[in-house]
Parts: sequence; structure tokens; C-alpha cells
Amino acid sequence: MSYTLPEFFAHAIALENEAAERYLELADMMEAHRNDEVSTLFRDMVRFSQMHRDEIKARVGAIQLPELRSWQYRWRSSPEAGGEEAFDYTLDAHTALRYARANEVRAMEYYQRVAKESTDKEVVRLALEFASEEEGHVAALDKWLERTKRPSATWASDPGT
Ligand code: ZN
Repeated sequence: MSYTLPEFFAHAIALENEAAERYLELADMMEAHRNDEVSTLFRDMVRFSQMHRDEIKARVGAIQLPELRSWQYRWRSSPEAGGEEAFDYTLDAHTALRYARANEVRAMEYYQRVAKESTDKEVVRLALEFASEEEGHVAALDKWLERTKRPSATWASDPGT
């Protein structure tokens, strides 16, 4: 769909809010697992999402934003989560990172699609800018995935205390 600038801002703010909420949950979960490194990463992602949202809000200024009726962008629930909206607290770091990455890819693809389908030049410009930010998040998570053990490896190296 082609977005007007106010529509685009409303969606981008909702997307960043959603990301901040999910990263906060993931950060809490990793803390419960005593995985401080990954917890810190997720808390950084919370901050980045909030900062990005605030930057967007600053650009909005006095523009009246529409209410979203067809907001489609929600993080998909993790494959391990039994119900809606809740993560399984046994989620390991590797799975959590893969899950976050999948959602960052969706956010990137979302902005790319908006850039392709919108006719408003400013929307296209911003959507491309935001898409490349999301691409950066995907790359950052890839780096973390490279150095995070898969669950089986974690169990294998567990001294059995
Ligand atoms: Zn992102």
C-alpha cells in the first residue's frame, strides 16, 4: 500500500514500540537465564528502538497522525512460545537471537515494501533509510549468533554440576 507521510510515521512509531516491548521481554528472559551478555544486547536494542521512535516523533512535530486500524506488524511469537504474547522461559540465547533476527528481517522487508509501493517521495526516502537501519540490526544479530552456542553445544559442554 502507498502511505502518506503521517500514515508512515504512525506505522513506524508502532513498529519501534513493538520492537522495544519484545526486546524488553527477551532481555528479562536472558537475565533470568543469567546470560548477562545477551541480556545487555537486548537492553541495548530496547534503547535503540526507543531512540528511533523518539527521533521519528521529533520529525512528526505538529503533524496529526492517523489512528492505526490495520496495523499488521507484530512480532511473530516464537516457535517455543506456547500461547500468545508470552515467551517460554526456557528459551535459550541462540534461539532468542534467531527469533529476534527473524523479526528484524521482517521489519526490514516491511520498510522495503513501503519504499517500493509508496508514491510520496519523503516516505520513500525515509522508508529506505529505516530499511537500512533494520539491515544493520540483522547484521548485528548475525555477529552475536556466530559467537553464541547452539543449545546442544551448551549441554555438551555443561560440566554437569
Ligand atoms: Zn530493528
